[in-house]
Amino acid sequence: MTDLTIERLASLAGESIFDRGQQYFRSGRVLSVTADNGSVRGRVKGSDQYPYRVEIDLRPQRLGARCTCPFNMGPWCKHAVAVAMSYCLDGSKKAAAQSRASGRPLGAVIPRDLMVAP
Ligand SMILES: [Zn+2]
Repeated sequence: MTDLTIERLASLAGESIFDRGQQYFRSGRVLSVTADNGSVRGRVKGSDQYPYRVEIDLRPQRLGARCTCPFNMGPWCKHAVAVAMSYCLDGSKKAAAQSRASGRPLGAVIPRDLMVAP
């Protein structure tokens, strides 16, 4: 099974999607995450009335994500990033340690839109 880390996730999703997914994760939009046998499933509160459903395949040859949202610019949308991030940080101290080592302080990231001057 693929060892999904925050770094891996960031490079898979790309910086802008990763940032948006991180904001989703940090604002508590991930409603549930379950992992079993090489896949992770999650539900994320979107702008719609119903949550989006995300399924992430962790098998090394098939690593990727699917989501029920209309995003089609790439394999990873912000919802998938938020679910993957929740999975990585839940009970994966190793991922958190790697994240600190690489200088990306997960606990101290200020959403970009809060930094914009009025
Ligand atoms: Zn999505």
